[in-house]
Amino acid sequence: MNKNELLRRLPKIDDVLKEGSLVVLAEESSTLLVTEAVRGVIGDLRKTILGLDEEGAAGFDVDVLSAGRIAELAAGWLAEDEAMNLYPVINATGTILHTNLGRAPLCEDAVENVARVSRGYSDLEYNVAKGKRGSRHDLVGDLIAELTGAEDAMVVNNNAAATMIVLASMGAGKEIIVSRGELVEIGGAFRIPDIMMQSGAYLQEVGTSNKTKISDYENAIMTKEKLASGDWRRLDPRHGERFETGALMKVHKSNYDIVGFTEEAELEELVALGKKYDLPVIFDMGNGLMLDMSEYGLSEPNVPASLATGIDVILFSGDKLLGGPQAGIIVGKKKYISKMKKHPLARAMRVDKMTFAALEATLAKYKDPKIALRDIPILDMISSSSEEMKERAGRLAAVIKKVNPTLDLELVPVLDQIGGGSAPMVRLPGWAVSVRDGRKSADNTERRLRKADVPVIARISDDKLLLCVRTIAESELETVAEALR
Ligand SMILES: *Cc1c(COP(=O)(O)O)cnc(C)c1O
Repeated sequence: MNKNELLRRLPKIDDVLKEGSLVVLAEESSTLLVTEAVRGVIGDLRKTILGLDEEGAAGFDVDVLSAGRIAELAAGWLAEDEAMNLYPVINATGTILHTNLGRAPLCEDAVENVARVSRGYSDLEYNVAKGKRGSRHDLVGDLIAELTGAEDAMVVNNNAAATMIVLASMGAGKEIIVSRGELVEIGGAFRIPDIMMQSGAYLQEVGTSNKTKISDYENAIMTKEKLASGDWRRLDPRHGERFETGALMKVHKSNYDIVGFTEEAELEELVALGKKYDLPVIFDMGNGLMLDMSEYGLSEPNVPASLATGIDVILFSGDKLLGGPQAGIIVGKKKYISKMKKHPLARAMRVDKMTFAALEATLAKYKDPKIALRDIPILDMISSSSEEMKERAGRLAAVIKKVNPTLDLELVPVLDQIGGGSAPMVRLPGWAVSVRDGRKSADNTERRLRKADVPVIARISDDKLLLCVRTIAESELETVAEALR
């Protein structure tokens, strides 16, 4: 057939719309969208035909031009069009807080609470008992206070926002003293010196990369008197401008460690120094660990213990070791936090009802640490033993074998990670299923897993494709196997 004959074979849109499958689709969704899809498919076919040479036209499969086939193509088009760009994947990397895969998965109750609160209206800013306007800041304040011992709390978008508002409200126009060993870059554009500059506070670095003593902080404090005396100029050959000290700040070395000949000031020492000079002490702790998890190899500071030092303000993420939604949580003394709530930046950084819903349900788990460890997915993953992981790997291998008996499977020990810029040195002994598909490369199988209906993100190590089971939920085992069918 030549091109013109092929073009004449293209059916009319109305004829394709009479196909049974499309009539049903139009009723279920919308006639407009179905018509657009058919128009799109016919348009594409017309373009393809016009681009054919004589030989191509002669070999063209005319069956593709039937109303039935075009209806099928249009239905496929519609389905693709409806697919979301944000969708679930299975994390088989063994990295628990995988930054690229959405950090902490939420606990079931948090998910349900988000649905319950966001489907309709809520008391986000309404005090139902009093029948008048309320404040969203009060929603989780009491619960956080109960769990951590803090006087007050505020929730913002993430810990980067928390850092910004803490520095802007406590240090604008003043110097904030930070150790040179703690000038962290978290990733992307978040660097302590840069955010300090944005906030209007002046960074006063002290100590060295490996050693910072409490005396270094004390020597750097610029009191009103010292500033007025001008004596400091003798020690500063460049006569740079100086300002009064606004606060002492400790930043957790979230994603790196300094080993060897090292020293850093403890929170207790900083708190004592702050008291002596009547200066607030701030701790950017990052991970938001709420429990003592040293039993599981995690020797990170936790929120209640850090607050117990008498520190003024602590800030941390909601979706790192706390295991909740993306958020920045600021806890500490009322006098500082009420100022932050009234700061002009507060509105720009406030979180919505879905975040509060997820956060409240997650925090409620911490009323009993046993329940938190059981129900909060990331805590369950961290606290799972190597034996449990070996058993799960065995179950995964068994379901894969059933679905695809031709694959070579092997259980191998692995070292899982916390990830998400938390506890960088911690390795959790775990297990994985290593998968080999005949002579195909690990890369080939990895690609195939990513293209599954529910993509499975696997790990490749030493040319082996590994499915690390610590980050795969029991309920996902079948889906992982299905991806290997
Ligand atoms: C992770 C982290 C941040 C940034 O927190 P986000 O919630 O990712 O914005 C800031 N400071 C420290 C010390 C961190 O570990």
